[in-house]
Amino acid sequence: MSTEVWQQRAERVIPGGVSSNVRLLSPRRFFTHGSGARLWDVDGRAYVDYLLGQGPAFLGHGHPVVTAAVAEAVAKGMVYGAQHPLEVEAAERFVEAVGWAEQVRFGVSGTESDHAALRLARAVTGRRRVVRFAGTYHGWLDSVLIDYQRGWPAPASAGQPTDALADWLVVPYNDPTTLADVFDRYPDQIAAVILEPVMCNAGVIPAEDGFLQFVRETCTTAGAVLIFDEVITGFRLGLGGAAEYYGVTPDLAVYGKALAGGWPVSALAGSADLMSELGTGRVNHSGTFNASVMAAAAVSATLQVLTEDPPYARISEHGTRLMRDLAELGDNHGFPLRIQGVPAAFHVGIALDPDDTKPITDYDGLARLDLQQYAKLTADFAEQGLWVAGRGVWYVSAAHTDADADAAVTAVDAVLRSKS
Ligand code: PMP
Repeated sequence: MSTEVWQQRAERVIPGGVSSNVRLLSPRRFFTHGSGARLWDVDGRAYVDYLLGQGPAFLGHGHPVVTAAVAEAVAKGMVYGAQHPLEVEAAERFVEAVGWAEQVRFGVSGTESDHAALRLARAVTGRRRVVRFAGTYHGWLDSVLIDYQRGWPAPASAGQPTDALADWLVVPYNDPTTLADVFDRYPDQIAAVILEPVMCNAGVIPAEDGFLQFVRETCTTAGAVLIFDEVITGFRLGLGGAAEYYGVTPDLAVYGKALAGGWPVSALAGSADLMSELGTGRVNHSGTFNASVMAAAAVSATLQVLTEDPPYARISEHGTRLMRDLAELGDNHGFPLRIQGVPAAFHVGIALDPDDTKPITDYDGLARLDLQQYAKLTADFAEQGLWVAGRGVWYVSAAHTDADADAAVTAVDAVLRSKS
């Protein structure tokens, strides 16, 4: 059955034909299977994949070690409503890999672990307000989903009560002065600062030199909890995530995506001092599926693979090459492609002003890009067998080979050639 037929069937029984609204932005494809960094669809077309399921397929699709470990574990059941040895082993491997954290609670999605982090921060400080940065994403719940374009803090979805957003203070990324001002304006009221240490949901915008250190010092001085949302950066920039990459230690951090080789697992981690508040029961964090047999097996096996054969140097080389090659293609075809980020997660945009080569350092800077034109190009990329996100981010996995990069470059070359 063809893509068109599957699409008609999907649209009858699934709103919009998609199960996550993020997918409304991508061309419709129905994949039958994936292996390594490749995907195949119902029409038999092959794709090289730099979207990685929005990040989780960090080891590539169907990694044999993780797949075998999960299959073996789940044959003995999935949920016991109690503890099990695999869960303890996964937690031990996790704290060992992350380095700075002492305790971890596993969850199912980044959204809910972010929510747990914010609740814990409010509980330990006895304060309500939270600082975040324009352009970051911390899940789709009423209390966190913000439309940064409609004045702050505005809800981003119909049905979202605005009073759920009342405690947010939104400041520009990479702007220490405004952050300091906010702390001056609300003394002893700020429970936490939450941030993506590399912003990956609005372009890809790395923290500038010294910025994370400044946020760390500001939080320490004010008695606020520093939360790193490492849902994308965790285990992707290195075993210790962005905390290790930048040498800045948060009080709490949230993980997901790359943590479990594609299985739905998230984590909230921190010092024993803070995390113990969950253990006494004073701060509620619950979930039927938390640390299920599947989740624990997936985390353990993923971390085993990442520890025994760290892919980070390879990924860095691969991403660096690709960023360079794509920039060159832009130059060759007279397309003002602007590429920035880190090799494991970088952003490709099209400058509105061809002479504008300044890096983008905050959300407002994205207005200098033609985001819609790029999103349209990704539909053409898909026609050429390249699967990337419409919002411009490219993720590099441990499974990508030189041949995959060659295929991506050939696809982009063909599309840009046809447009120039
Ligand atoms: N935080 C960040 C930084 C994310 O990128 C995402 C998902 N893209 C989330 C939280 C929410 O994670 P999930 O989709 O697993 O709920």
